[in-house]
Amino acid sequence: MVEGYCVKCKTRKEITDGVEETMKNGRLAIKGRCATCGTVMFKILGSKGGSAAAAKAAPPESSGSDAQPSS
Ligand SMILES: [Zn+2]
Repeated sequence: MVEGYCVKCKTRKEITDGVEETMKNGRLAIKGRCATCGTVMFKILGSKGGSAAAAKAAPPESSGSDAQPSS
C-alpha cells in the first residue's frame, strides 16, 4: 500500500490503482488515485533514504479539475 499527498483532501491518502512509472530524469514514481476522492496523485520514489525533496514536489497543474484519462 502506498501513500501520497492528495491536493484535494489536503492530507496524505492511500493511493489506489498505483502504477510505477519512470520519469524522464530517471526517477521512479507512482501514479494513481486518491482512495477517498479519486483525484490523480503522483508520488515520486526516486529519493533514496527518504530525503525531503519529495515533499516539495507539487504538480504545477492542480486546479481542481479531474485528470484526463491518458493513454
Ligand atoms: Zn483525495
